[in-house]
Amino acid sequence: MNQLKLSVKNGKPLKRTVVTVGSVRVGEDFVVIAGPCSVESEIQALETARAVKKAGANMLRGGAFKPRTSPYDFQGLGLKGLKILEMARRETGLPVVTEVTDPRDVSWVSEYADMLQIGTRNMQNFSLLKEVGKMNKPVLLKRGLYSTLKEWLSCAEYILAGGNSQVILCERGIRTFETYTRNTLDLSIVPAVKELSHLPIIVDPSHGTGRLSLIEPMSLASLAAGADGIMVEVHYNPAEALCDKDQALSPVLFSGLMDKLRHWQGALGTWTAEGAVAVSGRHPLALAAR
Ligand code: PEP
Ligand code: MN
Repeated sequence: MNQLKLSVKNGKPLKRTVVTVGSVRVGEDFVVIAGPCSVESEIQALETARAVKKAGANMLRGGAFKPRTSPYDFQGLGLKGLKILEMARRETGLPVVTEVTDPRDVSWVSEYADMLQIGTRNMQNFSLLKEVGKMNKPVLLKRGLYSTLKEWLSCAEYILAGGNSQVILCERGIRTFETYTRNTLDLSIVPAVKELSHLPIIVDPSHGTGRLSLIEPMSLASLAAGADGIMVEVHYNPAEALCDKDQALSPVLFSGLMDKLRHWQGALGTWTAEGAVAVSGRHPLALAAR
């Protein structure tokens, strides 16, 4: 990690970075980012946004540009999707995180997003990283499908070196020989990041597992591991989802997950006092009350 200057602590007792997105302080409170995989229509995005807000989410997610494996799959609504996200933010007050996939789009997408997401397939898209590094806008940097911690932090370094200090890391599972799960969620990376870096880290158990039944246990495990939050996919009617339907939580399931997270906050209190706080430097349990 010797070449890294800005993303790692290098043995120095650096203060943890807190990234402010709207009124949400990531790195201080345990935050929940929720919303559809992709923005499909006004009704779909607004209904989902209302549901996640009601259940206590802190931020809304939704892709307007979807990097799909097949060119024939739904690619996202582009500008129209961003305008719908803007409506959802206006109505719910939730800050919006959305993915940007092309360096030429960074500047104008920033006008709609409260946080720019760099997806797993673009983690090492260096021109994209340099472009978001010029922005005064928080960036959610997902871990690449095959990336080591050092490679991931090096990508964060590109953004930091460009002058943008507002970087949040997101563990979203890596590719292994296992095929039962969509990816292998590497939760051990959470305390590892806390050891090496001052940057906040959140976990995406939706893409990390690809299985509805595993999202709740992995969300709770993320909280216990000292993560600064989670990002999960929620759809107001999962059966109709145009993208990642098998991992889309219904509003009912999401609300149940939020209840469990709140419950676990209390249960983990004593443990975190000696464990996660020592690792993360803060009490990671400050979910918004409903
Ligand atoms: C997403 O979060 O919308 C997404 C496409 O995830 P990933 O880049 O991790 O596959
Ligand atoms: Mn998805």
